[in-house]
Amino acid sequence: MSVSLRVGVLALQGDVREHLRALTECGAAARPVRRPGELDQVDALVVPGGESTTISKLAVEFELLEPVRKRIGAGMPVYGSCAGMIMLADEILDGRPDQQSFTGIPMTVRRNAFGRQVDSFEAPVAIDGVDGPPFHAVFIRAPWVERVEPGVEVLGRVVAGEATGRIVAVRQGNLLATAFHPELTGDRRVHQLFVEMAAAAG
Ligand code: GLN
Repeated sequence: MSVSLRVGVLALQGDVREHLRALTECGAAARPVRRPGELDQVDALVVPGGESTTISKLAVEFELLEPVRKRIGAGMPVYGSCAGMIMLADEILDGRPDQQSFTGIPMTVRRNAFGRQVDSFEAPVAIDGVDGPPFHAVFIRAPWVERVEPGVEVLGRVVAGEATGRIVAVRQGNLLATAFHPELTGDRRVHQLFVEMAAAAG
């Protein structure tokens, strides 16, 4: 893996610092992206967890919505966690009517799917392509993936509790998304997978 791989973290809202740190620990040259000019300078992008309606609004205001869509169309690797997963979905359920996404993964996600009363919880998730024990996944007002179109790889599902079987990690080509927040735990395996994907794409 090249140490010069430039990975941006969309820094409009959300847990930007945690992703920057995780990416740096995985050997990437991580930097915040707030402007179209900064987007031009990165090889790959992370869309953090936060609030997808706010990220959507700010992406329009900061004139990043169309540029990110274009880069996705041109094959830029993108990883979205939680709100970032919503931002990569072609279809959003329980979104705001004016909510936009970058689109890219032909899937339908449901916002706050685990129930509004369940603010946050932790559950084990096994991820295909990631060696070792299941992830200790942290979910915070998380979406789940309600359906995927053919061609989208399901990488992980909840394996315990009421939500057993729900899809919470997917990949399509250079796009990766998780409903949970690996940036909030010390487990770097998802970021490592993304950095490797991005290096392979470059
Ligand atoms: N519920 C949030 C949304 O709809 C996502 C929560 C998160 O990223 N932790 O954007």
